[in-house]
Amino acid sequence: MDMRLPLKFTEAVPVQDRHQRALRELRVSVIDRCNFRCTYCMPADSLQGRGVFLPLEKLLTDHEIVDMVKAFAGLGVRKLRITGGEPLLRPGLPALVDQLASIPGLTDIALTTNGVMLPRLADDLFDAGLNRLTVSLDTLDPQVLAEMSGGKAKLAHILDGIKAAEAAGFGPLKINTVVQKGVNDHTIMDLVEYFRGTPHRLRLIEYMDVGNSNHWSEQDVVPNAEWRAAIEEKWPLRPVRSGNPAETARRFEYVDGQGEIGFISSITQPFCGGCTRARVTADGIFYTCLFSSRGNNLMPLIRHSEDPAALSREISAIWAARDDRYSEERGLPGHDRKKVEMYRLGG
Ligand code: SAM
Ligand code: SF4
Ligand code: SF4
Repeated sequence: MDMRLPLKFTEAVPVQDRHQRALRELRVSVIDRCNFRCTYCMPADSLQGRGVFLPLEKLLTDHEIVDMVKAFAGLGVRKLRITGGEPLLRPGLPALVDQLASIPGLTDIALTTNGVMLPRLADDLFDAGLNRLTVSLDTLDPQVLAEMSGGKAKLAHILDGIKAAEAAGFGPLKINTVVQKGVNDHTIMDLVEYFRGTPHRLRLIEYMDVGNSNHWSEQDVVPNAEWRAAIEEKWPLRPVRSGNPAETARRFEYVDGQGEIGFISSITQPFCGGCTRARVTADGIFYTCLFSSRGNNLMPLIRHSEDPAALSREISAIWAARDDRYSEERGLPGHDRKKVEMYRLGG
């Protein structure tokens, strides 16, 4: 019997959490492995021993991901982001994107990548219907880049990835930069200058306390307000109204018309009030917050249920019970708990 959900799209049943936040965006991790070992995400010394990564048979199959995304779309999700680990390591990703692109209700499919495999895959991903790309790049200094990626990243490869995305036809990219005090902060203005005057939008991300293996400390964070002030001294900025209250980045444009820059300030200016994002790991665990300790395993319903509506009911019930406001409550007692790692969730 074909257990896949019907493709027919009926008007979404709106579902809201306990703070009246709708379910609008979904981030799906398609693999937890990565070819980098970024010290703020997946430090090499935290990966000792066997069984760190999911065996391939534990990953949701393409059909299962498509069925699950259909269920989310039926509950109001409009935007999908594919992430990882490094999502381009998943075998056959363009074919999966091709299927996701035809899901009724979805208006936008984006993907976040470290960029090094884009020269091989950008054309196929564009042809498959991927709408937007975010490329992560923390610095233009090859030595600092090597240190931050656990010795794995080469600047030329990431820049080649960006060129491949442009050549494939992708519009302006988002460029994600995690800023760590004393690590890459002395190189940030070079990055700002590099992307100023291009169509791409650099986004400076405050280093976050996701997971536990990066041993985050507040001392390692540079408040984004400091960058904004430093940038404005050289190039005046004005806010861009995006019209999307769920947007994580505060967007600005250069007054002289040389493009845009964004600031993601989860530590100093939390944005939980507008958070409409759900996350699912590559093995089907549903998390309602980036900083969750525990998730809900959807795999049994996705893989074994004979009732296609049961998955929607389960997602709906989990979302309705959602009370997360981690970033707004950071620092309160009980918040130094064990949390799921970033490379399992994908940001
Ligand atoms: N491997 C892909 C990449 O790096 O773009 C996708 C997955 S990665 C987990 C998604 C995003 O999370 C990246 O832009 C990365 O820089 C960001 N990230 C990872 N750990 C972070 C942390 N501790 N604080 C802030 N951003 C982080
Ligand atoms: Fe890999 Fe992305 Fe994490 Fe870096 S941030 S280790 S590239 S998953
Ligand atoms: Fe959303 Fe959790 Fe981040 Fe707040 S801390 S914005 S609830 S993911």
